[in-house]
Amino acid sequence: MKYVNRFRVAPGSAVKLKNFDPGFKGHHKSHTEATEEIEQDRTKLRDLQELFYADGRGSLLICLQGMDTAGKDGTIGHVLGAMNPQGCRVAGFKQPSAEEAAHDFLWRIHRATPAKGEIGIFNRSHYEDVLVVRVHDLVPRAVWSQRYDQINGFEKELVESDTHILKFYLHVSKQEQLRRFKDRLDDPAKQWKISEADYKERTFWAEYEAAYEEALSRCSTESAPWFVIPANHKWFRNLAVARIVVEYLEALKMKRPEPKVDLEYIRREYHAAKEA
Ligand code: AMP
Ligand code: MG
Repeated sequence: MKYVNRFRVAPGSAVKLKNFDPGFKGHHKSHTEATEEIEQDRTKLRDLQELFYADGRGSLLICLQGMDTAGKDGTIGHVLGAMNPQGCRVAGFKQPSAEEAAHDFLWRIHRATPAKGEIGIFNRSHYEDVLVVRVHDLVPRAVWSQRYDQINGFEKELVESDTHILKFYLHVSKQEQLRRFKDRLDDPAKQWKISEADYKERTFWAEYEAAYEEALSRCSTESAPWFVIPANHKWFRNLAVARIVVEYLEALKMKRPEPKVDLEYIRREYHAAKEA
């Protein structure tokens, strides 16, 4: 569990994001040098996901959070791109619709959680309700401040119902975000992703960091850990997230169910069919 242990936020620790290097890339010097390892992990991911589906006893929920341009979409493409879409589901959470806003904040989240055998990825999550909501005072402090405990209780219930939860904070620096905004501006293929809100949100960087620090500190638990992933290098971000999912699934001791049929009987049927 090398990557799990390296990037996991220890439960109860007080996270200060300035102590985490967003440009970290481990012992790898470059993307090229890591390519083989990345490909091996993608193969492992595919096999593990199939086994997870066959085993069918649990669900896996992967939550992705991060500032704009941190790479939530890119990570989904990388990690899920390696898997069989049949056993996967992706849910994105934007500003709540009128119907969603008329319910408690976990309502829309709960109905999007993965079923048994499924791997679900959240592009943003229930944590927005202690991030954007807190930064912009969308509800009073008295309301959002209770949500850390509510989230822990909700996740505990999911875990006790055989859902495994892995939560990733994709950590980019403020300078790297500006560079990526510029890329979006210059590259016609990326211009559709630009929103004016991104530049406005950037002015709240410190407030978002404080909100993330509290969420990471209070909601990283033994059974539903947070990971802080260095994300200035896209390839390292992909490698680290994929590796953590691989390590986690490998440790699960999954097994394929026993065949429900009498294989000897089926073999006889097969030979009879072949000779007919
Ligand atoms: P994007 O992920 O770029 O499509 O943007 C989605 C937007 O929806 C982001 O600005 C989020 O902060 C916002 N959002 C997500 N969840 C909530 C929420 N619960 N309340 C308010 N805004 C939200
Ligand atoms: Mg955006």
